[in-house]
Amino acid sequence: MSDCIFCAIVDGDIPGRIVHETEHTLAFLDANPLAPGHTLVVPKEHHARLDEVPADAAADLFAAVNDLVPRVEAAVDADATNVGINNGPAAGQEVDHVHVHIVPRFEGDGGSPIHAVAG
Ligand code: AMP
Repeated sequence: MSDCIFCAIVDGDIPGRIVHETEHTLAFLDANPLAPGHTLVVPKEHHARLDEVPADAAADLFAAVNDLVPRVEAAVDADATNVGINNGPAAGQEVDHVHVHIVPRFEGDGGSPIHAVAG
């Protein structure tokens, strides 16, 4: 998609701090990290929302996430991670190319669990 910033990273048209790549997925560091090591994992093919991603591409996406979570934790010596998707603008999605956030968490870091949003 021509005006998608994550497609531009996938295509190499703008720089990304790439940490992992498979045939169908790319992972790169978030430009405005919520914590050190905050990583985004995207399908290379453009889809705006998770429910638009074909099942095989979703499987590839979550296989990459599953592979990356322990590696991200190890890289920054984190105790845990929040793994999540803002799926649609009302949920806070700002970039309309599906992306999974991997946010490292540290004991006592004062951050919020995902369910805190829903109260
Ligand atoms: P979301 O609100 O779930 O759509 O999250 C979008 C994320 O993309 C935010 O955490 C941004 O910091 C991040 N972001 C935006 N532009 C870039 C970029 N060029 N490279 C890396 N991360 C980006």
